[in-house]
Amino acid sequence: MEYPGILDTIGNTPIVQLKKVLPFEKPVVLAKLEFFGPGGSVKDRLALALIEDAERRGALKPGGTVVECSSGNSGIGVAMVAAVKGYRAIIVMADKNSKEKQDIIKAFGAELILTPKEAHPDDPNSNYNTAKRIAEEIEGAIYLDQFSNPANIEVHYRETAKEIWEQTNGELDFFFAGIGTGGTISGVAKYLKERNPKIKIFGVDIEGSVYSDYFYKKTMPEPRLCQVEGIGGDNLPENVRFEYFDELVMVSDKESFSWANKLCRTEGIFAGSSSGAVVAALVESAEILKDFKLGVSIFADSGYKYLSKQFSPEWMRAMGYAE
Ligand code: PMP
Repeated sequence: MEYPGILDTIGNTPIVQLKKVLPFEKPVVLAKLEFFGPGGSVKDRLALALIEDAERRGALKPGGTVVECSSGNSGIGVAMVAAVKGYRAIIVMADKNSKEKQDIIKAFGAELILTPKEAHPDDPNSNYNTAKRIAEEIEGAIYLDQFSNPANIEVHYRETAKEIWEQTNGELDFFFAGIGTGGTISGVAKYLKERNPKIKIFGVDIEGSVYSDYFYKKTMPEPRLCQVEGIGGDNLPENVRFEYFDELVMVSDKESFSWANKLCRTEGIFAGSSSGAVVAALVESAEILKDFKLGVSIFADSGYKYLSKQFSPEWMRAMGYAE
């Protein structure tokens, strides 16, 4: 008898109906709880997919080093997969991301390099450029590059989307997800649109990000720092496939934190701030959604990673987010 290892528990996450937090009863909205997984986020799928893709291509050899630039969850996933498979992992992350995520990355034995949150994507000290440089400097190292690696979209097309389709018998008519690298929403959207082009795809963006302006006006604003982690962008990654999106809904840090707290108290779902952003976007879209029947939304990670942020009343007060 062969028993599973920890990496075999990645994926196949549950969906639950949101029954109380939304101010409407129709349409029915389901949440796919991606924090049910060993690294606690949607990015476990990505980490395993990117590393196994690099192994298959021969780019990553036994004893090699993986370098990734992350807002924390991919870093946790990569650190975990690397620990199991015996690779050295170096995670590069902007210093705005939570202390909890930083500590989890180190707990898995990865090396963590923090970059200044103010660094513009073109700055040599930005997280992207730092990760690229480190990978070039170390022999046998590869930069996984979730922002443009096609294996990112592919894993969500192959796994996340298929699960959603099966869990709803293909009866959904809309889908909501936050956009970070774009991998989750682009992979799921591609699959859903292929099966039913009428399904509407709503991307959730955060104030300060460049995605919404680009989507609606084809302009590129100067990016501004936001506190919600994992969504929004300061440039246009290849994996954000705008052609699959029907609407982009922009929400604020304050709304996202507030809805993450309400989600906990009404539904008993302890999710992160990007899930709060998704709820805020659903609420904001109530009018448009009146004509729909069934939707699925992605809850990317859990509240445990943000005890020092939106679940700290002191932090919420100090930042001016408390109500
Ligand atoms: N929410 C959180 C908390 C995340 O860490 C991420 C990943 N950056 C996302 C949403 C968005 O996922 P993706 O990168 O696939 O767009």
